[in-house]
Amino acid sequence: MKAVALLGSTGSIGTSALSVLAQHTDKYNVYALTANRSVDKLFEQCQQFKPMFAVMLDESSAKQLSLKVKAAGLLIQVLSGVQALEEVVQHGEVDYVIAAIVGAAGLLPILAAAKSGKRILLANKEALVMSGQLLMREVETNGATLLPVDSEHNAIWQCLPVGESQQYQYENKGIRRIILTASGGPFRDYELSELENVTPEQAIAHPNWSMGEKISVDSATMMNKGLEVIEAHWLFGMSTKYIDVVLHRQSVIHSMVDYVDGSVLAQMGNPDMRTPIANALAWPNRIDSGVVPLDLVATGRLDFAKADHKHFPCLALAYEALEAGGTTTAILNAANEVAVAAFLSKRIKFTKIPVIIEQVLSKQTASSGDSLEQVFADDKEARSLANKYIN
Ligand code: NAD
Ligand code: MG
Repeated sequence: MKAVALLGSTGSIGTSALSVLAQHTDKYNVYALTANRSVDKLFEQCQQFKPMFAVMLDESSAKQLSLKVKAAGLLIQVLSGVQALEEVVQHGEVDYVIAAIVGAAGLLPILAAAKSGKRILLANKEALVMSGQLLMREVETNGATLLPVDSEHNAIWQCLPVGESQQYQYENKGIRRIILTASGGPFRDYELSELENVTPEQAIAHPNWSMGEKISVDSATMMNKGLEVIEAHWLFGMSTKYIDVVLHRQSVIHSMVDYVDGSVLAQMGNPDMRTPIANALAWPNRIDSGVVPLDLVATGRLDFAKADHKHFPCLALAYEALEAGGTTTAILNAANEVAVAAFLSKRIKFTKIPVIIEQVLSKQTASSGDSLEQVFADDKEARSLANKYIN
């Protein structure tokens, strides 16, 4: 029996993870559930999964949850705040931590899980984008295991020669390149001139995946793929020249590894996050995820096209930030979070997102990023600069 702490349980990844866990109550028990402020949803999950702990970032939400939990006669400890998130994942009882908080807020609890040597199932790519250097160091020095849940990275990881042990350095291991596939999002067939007036509603209507709002907008700008290039760099120890992106509209091939002997290994499946979640949960074994089997005949064809940096300037910005190194990627991430929130609340146009990020990147000087203080200081400065350019 493995005890699981699920960070961000009320989100898109969180609910997919619970759907897998509910199918395997003989193998996994839910030790902790956490959310930002969705009281009703977290309460529902508490009733079903009866964790030992429920943590809400927001204090008044935690108070409301606590009242509901008591009234229902449930023996669940309700806590609040980021420190409680960090503490709960470090409890000796916890075996696995599923990191499904969105954005920079995920970093501290993930670092805490790494420091206490847990198996981390990582959905929150922003943590690696902000401070891949520090997170990978904590993982390695504390004997933690970092398993990718992001579908592309999980695919690559399944196509890599992992064997029985976890490794994080694949450069010079007979690999020519890794190829991240990208659906291209809802605007892949739009002319550049048509992007000017797209709405948040259009941006979050992804053609193949159902996801949280922030990552849906990231998919529409393709910053998501940019963040994933950075994520791949840290997870697999590969420099930018070994990481390619190709458009693949069906989202059936989730990514590929191209070996020097000419073999290209791909991982395929229906676009459903329960597959990579189940894969990371059960690794090195396999469990049922509840995902509908892939029907190749119904799929019919697999199309590929070039990922054009002109059409998707955010992708180019992410490659440049990774090349620049240090906290440049943390700055990119922070500016992107602020710009996406501004677009979602209709304060800026869609096409302004890369413009704001570029302005912040060209104004701010990055630091080496080898301390958490630096990362957070640069993150904060980037947010305030981005807000300044937005207003
Ligand atoms: P979401 O918005 O649906 O859910 C986010 C979760 O985090 C919620 O439970 C929310 O309560 C919690 N949360 C939000 N802000 C918080 C804060 N400040 N402190 C603590 N908790 C907070 O997001 P999602 O789509 O599930 O994505 C989660 C993460 O997984 C993101 O980093 C995303 O990039 C990554 N990811 C998502 C998908 C997907 O299919 N949704 C695929 C790959 C990777
Ligand atoms: Mg992905």
